[in-house]
Amino acid sequence: MTQPPNTPETNPLPRLGNCPGCAQEIRLRTDGTLRQHPRYNVRCPGSRRPAEPLEPTFVRWLHANAARRDAYTNRITHLAQSTFHGCTRSPKRTPADMPWTTAVQLHDELHQQQVRLTGSENRSGYGGTERCDWMCRDVTHAGHVYAELLAAAAGRAA
Ligand SMILES: [Zn+2]
Ligand SMILES: [Zn+2]
Repeated sequence: MTQPPNTPETNPLPRLGNCPGCAQEIRLRTDGTLRQHPRYNVRCPGSRRPAEPLEPTFVRWLHANAARRDAYTNRITHLAQSTFHGCTRSPKRTPADMPWTTAVQLHDELHQQQVRLTGSENRSGYGGTERCDWMCRDVTHAGHVYAELLAAAAGRAA
C-alpha cells in the first residue's frame, strides 16, 4: 500500500501526552484528551482528562513516522521503521526505549554501536576507511526535515 497522492513527505510533529494509567505516550485529541491506545484500542482509567502535551522531540517525531506505509520509497519512513521495529521477531520499541533524543545524538549512537561491533567508528568504505554511511546520511536528512517542521511550527505560534 502507498500513501494517497496528497500525503506530505513526513508526518507532522506529534501531539502526545503521558497516559496516567500505563505511562505510555499516546496521541492527543484536539481537546487535549488522549486518543485510544494504538495497541489495544482501549483507554486506561484516568485518561479521559486533558493531559499535559509532551515536547515533540526528534525521537517522538521519528517514531510517529514508523506507522507510515511508504517505507519502500521514503527514506525517513524506512529509517523510522528500522529504528523502532527492528526485525519482525523483536518487540516494537518506543521513544522511551531510546538512549538518544536528537538527530545528532542518534548519529553519535550509530558510531558508538559501530565501535562496539568492530572497534572502529567507521561504518563505510573498503575495510572501514570512511566514517559515515547511508544510514548516517538518512539520520542527518531526517534531522533537517525535523528542524524545518519545528521552524514552521514556531512561525505559526509567533
Ligand atoms: Zn494507558
Ligand atoms: Zn556518521
